[in-house]
Amino acid sequence: MNTLLEIEGLEVEFGRQSPTAAVRGASFSVAAGETHCLVGESGCGKSVTALSVMNLLARGARRRASKLAFKGQDLLGLSDSAMSRLRGNEMAMIFQEPMTSLNPAYTVGSQMTEVLRRHKHVSQRIATDRAADLLARVGITAPSLRLGQFPHQLSGGLRQRVMIAMALMCEPQLLIADEPTTALDVTVQAQILRLLASLQRDLGLGLLLITHDLGIVARIATRVSVMYAGEVVESSATAELFANPKHPYTQGLLRCVPVPGKIQRDQPLGSIPGTVPRIGPGFEGCAFRDRCGYADETCAHTVPRHAAGPAHDFLCRLPA
Ligand code: SF4
Repeated sequence: MNTLLEIEGLEVEFGRQSPTAAVRGASFSVAAGETHCLVGESGCGKSVTALSVMNLLARGARRRASKLAFKGQDLLGLSDSAMSRLRGNEMAMIFQEPMTSLNPAYTVGSQMTEVLRRHKHVSQRIATDRAADLLARVGITAPSLRLGQFPHQLSGGLRQRVMIAMALMCEPQLLIADEPTTALDVTVQAQILRLLASLQRDLGLGLLLITHDLGIVARIATRVSVMYAGEVVESSATAELFANPKHPYTQGLLRCVPVPGKIQRDQPLGSIPGTVPRIGPGFEGCAFRDRCGYADETCAHTVPRHAAGPAHDFLCRLPA
């Protein structure tokens, strides 16, 4: 498969006085035509990883990596203007809450056409036609009417569809979706996920989907990387991860969701006691050790990464 995004050894830190290591040596890739899900609880570094790729980290954040490349092009060495030409054009991102990305003062149409006109320098007529086509493609009826409306005139589900359509205006090859359904009610969530999966398939997009919902992962992911306290603690093809989870954190997450065939009716779901710790630079050992039922004193030292099968690895002192 044609690899679009390659991340190796990504580190992100915030703060000077009491720095936080938000991402610690994360490595994974996204190929054209695949859906790669990043999963883990809030505060595990998933969104920060995505924002690092787009170079949209908050001011003061420090990012480094042995490799951060899009289609072989080094993203760390790109100037701000080169990055902004790439962003929204070949790589696009949609966020959890569309109102943080949509400008309330402009109509849907002017915001959608502006993206295409800025990157592709096409006429207003061509941009408007493409915007209307894409609104129809994402299941919005009466697209011409919607183009003239303001974001506050749309429901949450419609706004998220508009965001998806806007992200597709320039035909990106990589789409990053950060918890795109969290702010929506359950039936709309399912519609948006079906939409993303069908767009990914039909357009051959590489989709990096960030979620804490393993039910979503089971339905649409090709590969999964599980993040905990800034590290990728397990990475695998989806079916293999659900059938043969190796890291105790992954096993804990899977006990928290009703997986068909693995849970009996009326059987209570599990939970993982404790919370994700805040980690500083130079932290040693496994960050999950305060919550792990298998922890011993060796977990306070560097733990190995094991191969558990083809393209399946995990970070733990326990054997594969
Ligand atoms: Fe648990 Fe130790 Fe493995 Fe960490 S390294 S997941 S604490 S057994």
